[in-house]
Amino acid sequence: MVNIKRNVLLNPGPATTTDSVKMAQVVPDICPREKEFAKLMKGLRSDLLKVVHAPEDEYTSVLFCGSGTINIDVCINSLVPADKKILIVNNGAYNTRAVEICKMYHIPHIDLKFSVYERPDLAVVETAMNENPDVAVVYCCHHETGTGILNPIREIGEIAHRYGAIFISDTTSSLGMIPLDVVKDNVDFCMASAQKGLQAMSGLSFVIGRTDLIKASKDYPTRSYYCNLYMQYECFEKTGEMHFTPPVQTIYATLQALKEYFEEGEEAKFARHRAVYETIHEGLDRLGLETAIDRGIESGLVVSVKYPDDPRWDFEKVHDYCYERGFTIYPGKISTTDTFRLCALGKIYPEDINDFFKVFEEALNVCLS
Ligand SMILES: *Cc1c(COP(=O)(O)O)cnc(C)c1O
Repeated sequence: MVNIKRNVLLNPGPATTTDSVKMAQVVPDICPREKEFAKLMKGLRSDLLKVVHAPEDEYTSVLFCGSGTINIDVCINSLVPADKKILIVNNGAYNTRAVEICKMYHIPHIDLKFSVYERPDLAVVETAMNENPDVAVVYCCHHETGTGILNPIREIGEIAHRYGAIFISDTTSSLGMIPLDVVKDNVDFCMASAQKGLQAMSGLSFVIGRTDLIKASKDYPTRSYYCNLYMQYECFEKTGEMHFTPPVQTIYATLQALKEYFEEGEEAKFARHRAVYETIHEGLDRLGLETAIDRGIESGLVVSVKYPDDPRWDFEKVHDYCYERGFTIYPGKISTTDTFRLCALGKIYPEDINDFFKVFEEALNVCLS
């Protein structure tokens, strides 16, 4: 095996991967239209269902070539019936992305805005559903990566279903890290990209959703050619292949990553991410740095750290100092508070965070002097 430098990525994905996942991409050239390759994708689609405990006879997974946002695009442009609305439960940047997609496709929508520092108020969601009987789809991000808040999707899904609507959740930054059970959690559609919780490479994204609803969407207004959910689903069912060229090497990496996911185990992996997160908070407490979100509503995967109250603070300088030493920190995404983010995604351990804080403390000493 070649020696690959290990970087500790504290950005919210792509995440630190294992060498075995990196090396899984080095394979003989293959035409993805070969039966051998279709077989690999079949196994991959079925493994993805297992990650979210989706019963095979009710749910299916559909693969796309693109970054995670392609899933949001696909779900929104494909799953809103004619003359119906989508309600976006919006408490942050990633839900706002869904609103932007609605605007781009001119899809009737309600942007139900909440504070970015809090969880959405369920009573307000309930009232909105009550007042808008033409809402056919409710949408909410599970883990709002912009702040680090974990949204109450089980409860929001329950409200959606009670009013006869379907529920889509953007689980891009939680799937494979925080246990998710689509049936118990009232999720009709969820999604992720291979580069986040699964610890594989960027370029492969997937939607997991209810087969009956995908079939029903065949007759919905079509708003995109490349990104239509039914079209891609039908292609997989008929031929076992993606409609257009798949990200071949990324698929090999994802298969290896899934193997390692099941070896580590859902609960053990969750506990590891949690331990990394706790170590991040301990380090911040030691340095007296404050965070922007109440710990009780944090996902345990992303920490939004307030900029130190010091005029000499320079994010770029601190970033570069850490980057040169193998650690990547990431800018924040809260427009009303200056923050940066430290994340617990990827194949990293509490020891990595302790090593990071040694470097980070040095960076502060150098940059604030
Ligand atoms: C990362 C992420 C996405 C996808 O972002 P891309 O840059 O397109 O990969 C979507 N939703 C959430 C919540 C995310 O964290």
